[in-house]
Amino acid sequence: MTLRVAVTGASGRMGQAVARAVAAEPDAELVSLVARPGSSLVGTSAASVVGDKRCAIAISDTLDLQSTDIVIDFTLPESSLVTASACAAAGIPIVIGTTGFTAAEQAEMESTLAPVARCQAANFSMGVNLAYRLLSLAAKVMGAESDIEIHEAHHKHKIDAPSGTALAMGRAVADAMGHSLDDIARYDRSAKREVRDPGSIGFSVTRAGEIVGEHTVLFASEGEQLEITHKAGSRDAFANGAVRAAKFIASKPAGAYTMADVLGLS
Ligand code: NAD
Repeated sequence: MTLRVAVTGASGRMGQAVARAVAAEPDAELVSLVARPGSSLVGTSAASVVGDKRCAIAISDTLDLQSTDIVIDFTLPESSLVTASACAAAGIPIVIGTTGFTAAEQAEMESTLAPVARCQAANFSMGVNLAYRLLSLAAKVMGAESDIEIHEAHHKHKIDAPSGTALAMGRAVADAMGHSLDDIARYDRSAKREVRDPGSIGFSVTRAGEIVGEHTVLFASEGEQLEITHKAGSRDAFANGAVRAAKFIASKPAGAYTMADVLGLS
């Protein structure tokens, strides 16, 4: 059966990559592409975004869930919360790729979406989700003897920092070592003059050019260093993962599914 997918963020980099990935998927159909109200794209053909002249729908500023099986949302926290509310009210599952939620927004998102199947991930790429597993293993084997640093680099347009993926990597490491990331993360070393806090995880960030997304976790111990690096070459890695997640959760009962579930890693 063809999966009818609505995609939000028609003018966004990820919204467009997801719309293209849906259109390219034989078992899926792009039934709705939604732009922010007031966007110049509203009313224009979605064909210009997905690059397929056969795509006959017009870009809308309203999410119509009448003939939709699932929504994929990569926008901004405020609009994701509105979209989540609409999905919950209509009983439609949702894949959420937006990052940068505050703790309060995340809690609101989780309670709002309780009635439906959902998959939220800071990073939908296969490689990153596999990296979480590798990091957990590395942390168990050499975490206690290592200084652990996480560096991430993204394009200059990104507004949240460190990235949701860097935080998720930090969480994978901290969890494996039996700590809470909140207790051991160090985001800013400029305020105090002191040597490295043992057992901490340091974060650093680059924002430059059009870098799609790079993450490196360094385990530096006496006499050796291990680096686990992931580099995204294009947004297709995230878009394809989001479509895979959509296909996985579309017919699942209400609940929070992870990319580990989608990839068979759980
Ligand atoms: P972007 O700024 O290019 O796009 C965001 C888009 O959301 C904008 O075009 C904006 O017009 C649109 N938008 C805002 N409100 C809207 C509304 N009410 N309805 C429809 N559209 C609306 O950003 P981006 O690079 O596409 O990233 C979007 C989000 O996805 C960010 O939070 C980013 O961190 C995240 N992201 C996640 C992954 C992942 O794998 N989870 C990968 C890449 C980016």
